[in-house]
Amino acid sequence: MPVAALLTRHGKGPLLAAALRPQEIGVISIGYWDTDQLGTFSGEIERPMPALDVVRLKAILAADLSGCGLGLGSEGSFGGGPYPGLLPWQQELVALFNHDTGQCVTGVAAGPAPLGVQTLADEQALAQLLSRHPGQGWILRDGDLTYKGLTSAAQVLERVSSWPLTLEPDWRAMHSPLRSQRIRAAADNLAQRLAAQCPACQRPGFWPDDAEAGLPCAGCGAATHKIQRRTAHCACGFTRTYPVSAQADPFDCPCCNP
Ligand SMILES: [Zn+2]
Ligand SMILES: [Zn+2]
Repeated sequence: MPVAALLTRHGKGPLLAAALRPQEIGVISIGYWDTDQLGTFSGEIERPMPALDVVRLKAILAADLSGCGLGLGSEGSFGGGPYPGLLPWQQELVALFNHDTGQCVTGVAAGPAPLGVQTLADEQALAQLLSRHPGQGWILRDGDLTYKGLTSAAQVLERVSSWPLTLEPDWRAMHSPLRSQRIRAAADNLAQRLAAQCPACQRPGFWPDDAEAGLPCAGCGAATHKIQRRTAHCACGFTRTYPVSAQADPFDCPCCNP
C-alpha cells in the first residue's frame, strides 16, 4: 500500500487515514517539522499566502521532507461563505501531492463555525459554556501570557485572576470537534476526487469545480445567480460539462423578487 506523509503536530493523521483507506493510501504523521510557521489559527503567525497555496505547499513539503513520494497537507481558514459578515464561515482543505506525476489534488469542506469569543461573568457561565461544547478547547490570554487547549473548568479557574473572563475558541484540530469533523469531510472529498478519473487520460481529480451562474427562474425564465452548469477540466485538455436540470426558485430571481 502506498504511504503518504503528513506534517502535523495536531493529531490530524488518524482523520486522514480513515478517509483515504478506501483509496488504499496509508498515512504516516511526521511531527518534527512545525507547520505553524505557515500561519496559525490563533493569529500569532499570519499566513503568507492564500489557504489553497499553503495546503499545496504543505503537501509538497511533506512528500519532499519524508521521501515518501506522496505528501498530504491540511489547512483551515475562516471567512467567505453565503452570508459574509453575518454567518462565520470556515473551510478545510486537504491536499495530496504525488511526486512522480507532479499532480496535487485538493479536497474541500466548508460550513458555519458558530463559535466566537466568549465573555463570561462567573463560574456558572463557564460551566455552561463548557457543557454546551464538549471537547472544545479554549484560549485564555492574560497580559503577555497565552494559555491554549483549556477544556475543563479546573484548567481555566487555575489561571483566572479576575472576572469577567474572556475566552477564545482553540481551533487547533485536536482541540476542536467541529474542525476535526470538517477535516474528515474534506479528506472524504479528496478521496472522491482521487477516484474520479479523466475519461480521456485516467488522471485522478477530474472534478466539476468550474461553476457557471444563470439558472433560469421557474416563474419567468430570467437568468438568476444560481448555478446552471458545472464543468470539469483536465490538464490533458479534456473537459466535460454537467448541466443542472432544476429551475431556480422565483425567490432568487432578480425579476420576480427584485
Ligand atoms: Zn485527462
Ligand atoms: Zn423570475
